[in-house]
Amino acid sequence: MSAAAQRVAAAAMHAGTSGPDPAPLDASSIRVEFPILWQSVHGKPLVYLDNAATTQKPACVLDAVDAYYRCDNANVHRAVHTLSERATVAFEQARAQVARFVGARDSSEIVFTRGATEALNLVASSYGDMVLRESDEVVLTEMEHHSNIVPWQMACARTGATLRVVPIDDRGELDIEAFGNLLGPRTRIVAVTHVSNALGTVNPVAELVAMAHAAGAKVVVDGAQALPHASVDVAALDCDFYAFSGHKVYAPMGVGALYAKRELLDAMPPWQGGGDMILSVTFEKTLYNVPPYKFEAGTPDVGGAVGLGAALAWLESLGIERVAAHENDLMAYAQQALLGVAGLRVVGTAARKAGVHSFMLEGIHPHDVGTILDHQGVAIRTGHHCAQPVMQHFGIAATARASFAVYNTREDVDRLVDGLHEVKEVFG
Ligand code: PLP
Repeated sequence: MSAAAQRVAAAAMHAGTSGPDPAPLDASSIRVEFPILWQSVHGKPLVYLDNAATTQKPACVLDAVDAYYRCDNANVHRAVHTLSERATVAFEQARAQVARFVGARDSSEIVFTRGATEALNLVASSYGDMVLRESDEVVLTEMEHHSNIVPWQMACARTGATLRVVPIDDRGELDIEAFGNLLGPRTRIVAVTHVSNALGTVNPVAELVAMAHAAGAKVVVDGAQALPHASVDVAALDCDFYAFSGHKVYAPMGVGALYAKRELLDAMPPWQGGGDMILSVTFEKTLYNVPPYKFEAGTPDVGGAVGLGAALAWLESLGIERVAAHENDLMAYAQQALLGVAGLRVVGTAARKAGVHSFMLEGIHPHDVGTILDHQGVAIRTGHHCAQPVMQHFGIAATARASFAVYNTREDVDRLVDGLHEVKEVFG
């Protein structure tokens, strides 16, 4: 049994009795669990700092998906044969794992989706269309990813409701006073990101939820950039919806989930029709299934869900608090190290940040920074990061973005900084 598998088994055995080892994480030994990181790029050992776009997958997740397809693959919920029963059990165990990881009261509050984007579209289509009327308002923030803007623009176009936008300041923090002023009797929905993918800002979600609820609005949280970095407890946050993507939290692409309070799922209409979301169909009338199945039309990505369950169990085995402590240390180290690069400006200097440092190098286009770093074996992202309103706020078209995961080390940061010095040399 691999070290990771032993750790996951031990964590499962001790779940609820003793926490994970309180000692700091050893990122270099975690890195060994990620086969993709063993390679060289342009002749240099790969340093992967594009984790906000997608994380790499540990061997135990790859093994879980492989084992599912080799041994258990069948369609779920529809047959009595053994493979189908096994696939159904694996799928529902993954749902229970997700529910436990985010602190949901019950597995039925977890709807599997293709990712955060689909989860947010589900809420905007189903809940949005159910409650929004002309003269109603949807409040979102200037730091949202396009996935938490466009579905709301589409819902407003369908229903006649209006979008209101909470501004950010030049550190990339939300203007909480402006948020309070925007809330009113017409506010039906507040849609806010937990962590900004372009700036790294961590928003005070519990406080925002309390303010929105006091105004009678429901809150949709985009957790795509939060779940990999810190413990999330939807019950403590008291949010109404929480969306995230598997691939940003060490799981495969193509799977994610929406948490929603059960009473909301009960009241909401389905948003896609097809198999599995029904109890019975005649040409006269269709009876819909109960949540979460009511929102899962068609064959789901069972292998992806199994991988997601394995990824969250793996994170639990490390201890999410230890993951957060390691990454906070790395963020602080990177911030100091980046300050040492002349002409470098960090975009987004909020007091609380997670996972992301966006920056500009004076006089050098971010794409050139990214290309030269790639030749050093260092992968970062450059562009608008699907957050064009953030770029507009700062009067820029793009940034370079280094984003961190649990397998990154201080040596990775040093390689980034060395690479940036190289970029500066190339541009004289
Ligand atoms: N929300 C945020 C904050 C993100 O960073 C992203 C992806 O980068 C998304 C939503 C969309 O995630 P996905 O493309 O996995 O659906």
